[in-house]
Amino acid sequence: MPLPALTFGPNATPRVSERFSTSTATTIPFVSYDNVTFHIERAKLERAADFVPPSTVTSSPTDPVPLSEYSDTLDLLFRFVDGEVHVHLDAVDFSRAAQLAEAAEKYMVYSAMTVSHLYMKGQAKEHAIRVFEYAAKHNHRDILDVAAPYTIGTDLHIIQSRVPASFILPWVTFNDAYQQIAQHCTDFLNYKRTATRRDHEEPDEDREEYVVQPCGLEADEEETWSWLSREVTHALLTSGGRALLDLDRVFTPEMLYSVEYCKYCDKTLRGWKAKLARQVEDVKAFTTFL
Ligand SMILES: [Zn+2]
Repeated sequence: MPLPALTFGPNATPRVSERFSTSTATTIPFVSYDNVTFHIERAKLERAADFVPPSTVTSSPTDPVPLSEYSDTLDLLFRFVDGEVHVHLDAVDFSRAAQLAEAAEKYMVYSAMTVSHLYMKGQAKEHAIRVFEYAAKHNHRDILDVAAPYTIGTDLHIIQSRVPASFILPWVTFNDAYQQIAQHCTDFLNYKRTATRRDHEEPDEDREEYVVQPCGLEADEEETWSWLSREVTHALLTSGGRALLDLDRVFTPEMLYSVEYCKYCDKTLRGWKAKLARQVEDVKAFTTFL
């Protein structure tokens, strides 16, 4: 009985790419890791890349050149080599686009490198670790700075497994800057809302001093503030600090609504959010830690 055709890995049944199927005197055959052959024009390769095939191509032009990438990655890469103008990475899944980005760097296919660079930068929030890894490997400093904030709170051993050793200490220090903000997020609040009720004071001209005004939340004041404090702290700590990057989602409309009957409490809550935003803004870009 014949064995079923293998379609995956180095023992897959040999196939020829549909798009790059024509073999001529001027093409070089490349074979993907999963055994798909691509016939690529030598002149186009020379124009598109510093492509250095890992084989003795010049001595025997017809010998297929084995590459370590899968066929779906090479299919994308060779479309760039072929000069296709509109290769839309948004239409492919992230993992495949990330593999293209690596292959583009490896074979120096310039057009694919440019497109991949932009694409990966755009994926920094969604796929922070993978993008950070790519940027670290190829020293794309602009992407490092965009992706790094979205990696905060990640387990150190994950970071260690993805980036060169020289990035570890800078990352730990960078991450710590955010963790400190998250840990101390109630400091401003405690300062404003101490026993002296500083946030409810108004200047009294007759007595030439500040006088504490009644709170519009009345009996609900303490309960409201301990709820607010709990919610914000919880959001920051359970997100590993990443919630600091989107404070509009930490300070929900429900929270703002809860203090609307007291202009002093309202101001304190908004001041708290603004203070956190300033602290986050003050953290320097990741590459300054390198
Ligand atoms: Zn109040």
